[in-house]
Amino acid sequence: MNNCKFFDFHTHKINTPPGEGIVCLPQEVILFLEEWKPQANGFYAAGIHPWWTAHENFDLALHLQGVEHLLEFPEVVQLGECGFDRLQGASIGFQTEVFERQIALSEKYQKPVTIHCVRAFDVLLAEKKHLQPKQQWTIHGFRGKPMLAKQLLDAGFNISFGINRNEESWNITPSNRRHEESDGQ
Ligand SMILES: [Zn+2]
Repeated sequence: MNNCKFFDFHTHKINTPPGEGIVCLPQEVILFLEEWKPQANGFYAAGIHPWWTAHENFDLALHLQGVEHLLEFPEVVQLGECGFDRLQGASIGFQTEVFERQIALSEKYQKPVTIHCVRAFDVLLAEKKHLQPKQQWTIHGFRGKPMLAKQLLDAGFNISFGINRNEESWNITPSNRRHEESDGQ
């Protein structure tokens, strides 16, 4: 990776030029509704977004099967985005089940995790303590204040920042533990 060039740690733009970012795959790909093959030298992430868990016909087994299938591709370098959202999604109890099942896959396939977390950092920190994962967990799109950033860094998380970042949080995050992202659609 060239230091001068922006590497997009988290984007949904499926046509991101290979090597310029990590493309988070859409639900259609996870559920095998679309035939998918990675682009040469591309980087991808596959996971169950917490928002999907609230859909009427959400099928956990089917989603997990899709994520596991995708993790077998070497080009799929992360599990994600997954996590917790108190504003959108199923109950936190069910979101926890969905999250823990995915963490088991991350550990099995030795792939790091990209995390979506909205108003649920208490749950996320408790999960980290409880599960003691070996794989790196990175919060994406972090906008929080430095106090929360410090708490997350102390717990072993890395942090990815978008354009709406808190500058002080960015500054206190060591450069080898922070990323930049567009979260582009
Ligand atoms: Zn995203």
